[in-house]
Amino acid sequence: MLRFAPSPTGDMHIGNLRVALLNYLVAQQRNESFIIRIEDTDKERNIEGKDTEIMQILEKFALKHESVFHQSEHMHMHQTLAIRLLEEGKAFVCTCTPEQLEADRKTAKTNRVDYRYSGQCFEVDKTEHARLKESGIPFVIRLKKPEHDIVNHDLIKGDIVTDPNEVDSFVILRADGTPTYNFACACDDMLSGVNFIIRGEEHLSDTPKQKHIKMQLGYEEETTYAHLPIILNTEGKKMSEKDDAGTVKWLFEQGFIPDAIANYLIILANKTPREIFTMPEALEWFKLENISKSPAKFDIDKLRFINRAHLKMMDNKQLSSLFGFADADIGKLAKVYLEETSTTKELEAKIHPIFSPKDFSGEWGKEMRIMEKLIQKLPMLNSFDEFHSTMMKASGLQSEKFSKPLRILLTGTDKGPELSDIYPLIKPYLLEVAS
Ligand code: GLU
Repeated sequence: MLRFAPSPTGDMHIGNLRVALLNYLVAQQRNESFIIRIEDTDKERNIEGKDTEIMQILEKFALKHESVFHQSEHMHMHQTLAIRLLEEGKAFVCTCTPEQLEADRKTAKTNRVDYRYSGQCFEVDKTEHARLKESGIPFVIRLKKPEHDIVNHDLIKGDIVTDPNEVDSFVILRADGTPTYNFACACDDMLSGVNFIIRGEEHLSDTPKQKHIKMQLGYEEETTYAHLPIILNTEGKKMSEKDDAGTVKWLFEQGFIPDAIANYLIILANKTPREIFTMPEALEWFKLENISKSPAKFDIDKLRFINRAHLKMMDNKQLSSLFGFADADIGKLAKVYLEETSTTKELEAKIHPIFSPKDFSGEWGKEMRIMEKLIQKLPMLNSFDEFHSTMMKASGLQSEKFSKPLRILLTGTDKGPELSDIYPLIKPYLLEVAS
């Protein structure tokens, strides 16, 4: 079982989308289920509507999944499991005040050592739990630190050994009774039977904690972990939502299409047999082991190149639908313009003026009027050559005085691909176009 576990705390980051795509691919390859878990336990950081937005994005990438649930639906189970650990003596109640912990943190900083929990409540008897609950004294529940090193054989990062002190006796249930991220995450992975986890390397330090939680809960199934390298922006810093290209929403707004975005995110920091491919093709050869340990730099020019290649591969009628048509010829027209564009936004900027009312107030307005009138009277002429010579003869215009206004009348601009390539595709719309 594999999962994608996004937090609804902001616009979906491209790193998150990469995680979703790779989990989906591996689930398909292993013929295992793939589920979506919305990690909404951090009430303060949740943003209303972001869960729906995440699902809408995933839909665009057609990531077939078995189920979707919100982590908060499992809160009572997280609480029950925390109490069970307490009962079994594997966890303890801790009444250390935030002030005390802060003071410890400061001392650790002064002494230039990593902060560790002092262990002050380590031996507090489990019966204290009932008393504290009754008296209303705030307390948290901490899991006792492990007795041995925690070893993770990460598929990408290799073997990572974590010392018990580094894992520390960390909080699993907060004073308000809500589970911490690591606890909720580990419990849910265990409850859903998730045995393969692919996620960003920012979670690398969470893994020993989550492994420890699952071990203490008696979960014996081995989980495979793969932590993906971070994505860097052009300045070499970790890409974030603040970078324009950092969010999927921005990429869509710029006219990058899902097939191309997926293709690009799969080749990032990866060795692939091909540069341009579809998701079904990737299923045949994708290997997590080929992903590099080191970060990948986001390269918008590469994405543009891939986007153009996918637009070229798109079915003509489907492509035309992006511009409000259901006509294969308009798809072909878009492909003519792909010689000078890479995104649907740029294509729209070329195709829209063709079908918009023309501006007759410019330098060539008079000639354009002459041609407009002629086109209204002409029968439909099949070939561009025929159209061209008929128009030239009938208008009495020549060279630039003919070619410039004709181009503006047909395309709304004075530059662009050969009119002989455009004419056959817009011919049925000529009366609308040339006006
Ligand atoms: N909710 C976490 C995030 O959005 C992911 C947790 C995980 O994959 O384990 O970064």
